Amino acid sequence: MASSKKVHAIGIDLGTTYSCVGVWQNGHVEIIVNDQGKRITPSCVAFTSDQRLIGEAAKNQANRNPTNTIFDIKRLMGRRFSDQTVQSDRKLWPFNVIQDTGDKPKIVVQYKGEEKQFIPEELSAIILEKMKKIAENFLECNVQNVVINAVITVPAYFNDSQRRATMDAGKIAGLNVMRIIDEPTAAAVAYGFEKLTYVREEKNVLLFDLGGGTFDVSVLNINKGVFKVKATTGDTHLGGEDFDNRLLIHFVEQIKRKHKKDISDNPTSIRKLRSACERAKENLSYYTSTTVDVPGLYDSTDFILNITQARFEDLNMDLFERCMGLVTKCLEDARMEKTSIDIVVLVGGSTRIPKVQQMLEDLFDGKELCKGINPDEAVAYGATVQAAKLSGQGNQEILDMVLSDVTPLSLGIKVVGGVMSVVVPRNTVIPTIELEEFTTDKDNQTVVDFEVFEGERAQTKDNYLLGKFTLSGITPAPRQVPKFDVCFEIDANGILNVSAQDRSSGQKKKITVTNEEASLSNDLIKKIIQDAEMYRAQDEECRRKYEARNTLERYAYCMKNAMKNKSITEALPFATKIGIEDEIKETLSWVEDNALPEVAESISRMDDLKSICAPIDSI
Ligand code: AMP
Repeated sequence: MASSKKVHAIGIDLGTTYSCVGVWQNGHVEIIVNDQGKRITPSCVAFTSDQRLIGEAAKNQANRNPTNTIFDIKRLMGRRFSDQTVQSDRKLWPFNVIQDTGDKPKIVVQYKGEEKQFIPEELSAIILEKMKKIAENFLECNVQNVVINAVITVPAYFNDSQRRATMDAGKIAGLNVMRIIDEPTAAAVAYGFEKLTYVREEKNVLLFDLGGGTFDVSVLNINKGVFKVKATTGDTHLGGEDFDNRLLIHFVEQIKRKHKKDISDNPTSIRKLRSACERAKENLSYYTSTTVDVPGLYDSTDFILNITQARFEDLNMDLFERCMGLVTKCLEDARMEKTSIDIVVLVGGSTRIPKVQQMLEDLFDGKELCKGINPDEAVAYGATVQAAKLSGQGNQEILDMVLSDVTPLSLGIKVVGGVMSVVVPRNTVIPTIELEEFTTDKDNQTVVDFEVFEGERAQTKDNYLLGKFTLSGITPAPRQVPKFDVCFEIDANGILNVSAQDRSSGQKKKITVTNEEASLSNDLIKKIIQDAEMYRAQDEECRRKYEARNTLERYAYCMKNAMKNKSITEALPFATKIGIEDEIKETLSWVEDNALPEVAESISRMDDLKSICAPIDSI
């Protein structure tokens, strides 16, 4: 008889610098610790001559292996290679990003002595898979007997391509992605459920979410379990890493000036200095000055410099001001005065910066900010609550909860003169279906090209091209006679599908736009999943090799210690004692020289050592 599979609900905050996972268990959210006991895991993947490392293990070896240690993957998701931000980021990344076909970026690494190329979705999938594993270990389940329903969060200001790329990464990671939700909305849910009265009472909440790579601000109305986003805005390239970069550039310039040395082309030095800058920035949230100390930064020269909080703030002031400007814009979009905001909630690690807090407090005329929820975990917490709801788990309050998100950017079609004709204005509640009538602009036109754009500028050339399609076979007629119904459909994940129907010809034609550059074809996803399985199998093989080698090493040391015991050595015949000691010595020197031997070799050496050491057991 087939047993039904158990359903688990998990929420993943896939961050630029760190990721966090929560599971729904026994009626509440549990944020899960990784194998190092940490509640957040670096969003980092590394490749070495013999293995693939993820999370803490990848970050810990980054200084030694900068060109093959990949971070900031979220900054590449759904972006074109030619994107200006990709081009400027590339200059500061120690790893190599090249242009693939269709203007997609690809990351090049050396893995097991060979060159390998990855698209950003593949690398994000590796992180998602790691987060899934962390959850599975906690739940003590294996994939055979459970279904894991996941909700993944994205910055509210992520565009259509970036959302599609995240969805694809989830598919590659083998997750059953139930929904993509916005990070500030997830944080608002966490806030609402941590302070339960706010789920029931009506409150206007402003979520200020400044993380490692992105900034989001949303205004929500929470009332009787309904979380209604009134407006959202942000910047998908503004966060802690930009503050680190400002410090990095500052110190690179100082080294140039003071020591006449340009380290900008040296990936190892840049990587070391970048880590030191992040630490210094975090210290400056608690102290008025700190030291940046990098032993052997270049040419075995040690680097020690002091930096004050005031200097750090000065270096970043324009970025902090940009955040405040976006808060004002969000209030305008929500058509709300700042006095109608009841609570300002801080989310994201970078909201610990005192200057950011002070500027925000000043903007709200001294209003106290809510720091009561854990800024690192709130997003994963809210995502988990939503995953529980969508899986039909949780109490009535959760089952009754309604999330109403909005589209962050206007969507439209290019019309005569390159003008953007908006079909779905930004901050429209999703899911939504909007219909708009279009026509021809020339006589006897039989073919019409539709170009779909996203953005707020009046001219499409200043907006982001999502995709195009052509409607042909139109019955010749004077201009403006043929009529086309263009339908924009945005689902609950914020993902858009566009279709058009030719009314004038009497024929029903329907074409769905899929942005080929942005979303991966099913064939490509299948291939990547196969590759991912191969890498997973290699990781498993690597783990088994380590385990076999380490078991041998542990046994050899155990026997070495036993041989320190006089009652044992005196009971052994002299030749046997020498034989055992030689074999232990030989085994330990072999494990020292062989970091990753074949499993069979370790097992065979173990068998030999065990049989030679057998007389010890019989004493
Ligand atoms: P998140 O994306 O929310 O995990 O935020 C990660 C970012 O928060 C990273 O850039 C961290 O360097 C930054 N961060 C964490 N703690 C602090 C702190 N005490 N002061 C300033 N930034 C911090």
